[in-house]
Amino acid sequence: MSARILVVDDLEANRRLLEALLTADYYEVMMASRGEEAVQLAKRERPDLILLDVMMPGGIDGYEACRRLKAMPETRHIPVVILTTLDDRDNRVRGLQAGAEEFLTKPIDDVQLMARVKSLLTLKVVIDELRAREANGRRLGVITNDGRPDAVDQHRVFAGNVLVVDDNPTQIKRIQSALGVEHRVSILGDEAGAGPPDLAVVSVHAKSFDGFRVIARMRSGEATRHLPILAIVDPDDRKRAIRALELGAHDIILRPIDEEEIIARARTLMRRKRYMDALRQRLDQSLELAITDQLTGLYNRRFLFTQLEPLVQRAQCGGDAVSIMAIDIDYFKRCNDTFGHDVGDAVLREFAARLASNTRPSDYACRQGGEEFIVVMPRTTGDIACLAAERLRRSIASSEFIIPGLAQALEVTISIGVASTDGADETTESLLKRADEALYEAKRTGRNRVIGRTGRDAA
Ligand code: GH3
Ligand code: MG
Ligand code: MG
Repeated sequence: MSARILVVDDLEANRRLLEALLTADYYEVMMASRGEEAVQLAKRERPDLILLDVMMPGGIDGYEACRRLKAMPETRHIPVVILTTLDDRDNRVRGLQAGAEEFLTKPIDDVQLMARVKSLLTLKVVIDELRAREANGRRLGVITNDGRPDAVDQHRVFAGNVLVVDDNPTQIKRIQSALGVEHRVSILGDEAGAGPPDLAVVSVHAKSFDGFRVIARMRSGEATRHLPILAIVDPDDRKRAIRALELGAHDIILRPIDEEEIIARARTLMRRKRYMDALRQRLDQSLELAITDQLTGLYNRRFLFTQLEPLVQRAQCGGDAVSIMAIDIDYFKRCNDTFGHDVGDAVLREFAARLASNTRPSDYACRQGGEEFIVVMPRTTGDIACLAAERLRRSIASSEFIIPGLAQALEVTISIGVASTDGADETTESLLKRADEALYEAKRTGRNRVIGRTGRDAA
C-alpha cells in the first residue's frame, strides 16, 4: 500500500500543487484547509505524514494544530512537516518547538520535498513496526503499561551527548554555544570520555574530511546505526542537501547556523531517538519476560517445553540422551503457614539461586509452578543426572536458608525424581511423567532424597 499523506493549507492553489507533486510519486493524498479539520482528519484517518501550513485564518493555526497532534497518543507518532516561507525564521523555529519534525520552505522545491518525505516515511515504517510489536507484547501480557514510551513527554527537554564532526572553528563555536546550554557537546577527535552520542552534527563542506563518508559510515556501523544525524549544508547547494538525506542524514540545517533553529532541531531529533530507544529496549525486555519466571528469574514453563520438545525428539532419533530432574520442596506449605507467604517467596528465591549455581551452563533450570521445578540436562545420561541431583539435594539440605528479616534460619529439603530418554516411543509427556512418578516415590519413601527412573532397568 502506498503511503498516505495529509496536506493542510488554506489556499486551494497550494493544496493542488502539493497534491500534484505527491500523487506523481504515487502517494495517496488527503487534504484539509483548516487546523481543526486537519486534527480531526488525522485522528480518524491516521495518515503516515502531515504537511502543515502555519498561516491559516480563523480557529487554530498550524502551530496549535501541531501541538494538538503531538499531544494525542493516536497521532503523536505521525511526522509533521511545517510549511513556511523562505525568510520566515521565527515561524520555522516556532513550528519545530511545537513538535514538528521538519520544515519546508515555500515555494516548495520538489526535490527537497521528495527527499524529506522519503526520509520521514522510512523512519515512520520503523516506528510503526516497533509499535505493532509492542502492542502485541501488551496483548500477550508480556508488556505492562507503566513507563511505556507513549508516555514520553513530547515537550520535555532531554540532556544528551552531541558529537560535532566539523573542521570550521567559527562554526564549531557557534554550535557549542547553542547546544552547550542543554547538552554535552564534544568534537570528533576530542571526545574522550564523552560517552556514546545521542546526536551527530556533521558538516558536508569540511575541507579536511569527507562529510558524506562520515554519514554513510555512521549509518552502516553497528554502534551508530540508530544515531540521528544532522547535516550542515550551504543554502544554495541543493545537490549536497539531497545527497546527505539520501545517505541517511535525518535532517539538514543551512549555513550560517541559526542558534535557535539548531536547538529546536536537536531537541526534535533527540526526542525521536529516546522514543525509538525506549521502544527497542522494551522489546528486548518483553522477549526476556516471555521466557522468565517473575519470582525467581529462572526460565518459565513455556520455555521449558520449547526447549525440551526438540531435545526429546532428537534423542528419539538416535541423538544424545536427555535427562530431567523434577524437584519439589518438602513440606513447603508448612513454611508458608508458619512464617507467611512472603517468607515462602523468599525461600523460593533462595532455592532458585542455589539451583542456578548448581546447574551447568548447558542445563536449563525452570520453575514449573508453585514449589515445583524442572532441570533439563541435554546430552546427559541417567547415571550422571542422578549424581547431579544428589549433589543438588545435599547442597540444599546441608546449609540452612537465611531469610532477610527472619531471626531464625530455616532447614529446607527437597525431593527429586530423575528420568532419562529411553527408546523410540519416548515423548516429552512420557519423560515428564516418569520424572513425576520418581518424585512421588521419593516423597512417599521419606522425602529429602533422589529417585531415578533413568533407563529400562530402572523402570
Ligand atoms: P510435600 O512435601 O508433599 O511437597 O508438601 P508441600 O507442603 O511442599 O506440598 P503442597 O503441594 O501440599 O503445598 C505446596 C504449597 O506451595 C501450597 C502453596 O500455597 C504454596 N505455593 C505455591 N506457589 C507459591 C508461591 O509462589 N509462593 C509461596 N509463598 N507459596 C507458594
Ligand atoms: Mg512440596
Ligand atoms: Mg507440590
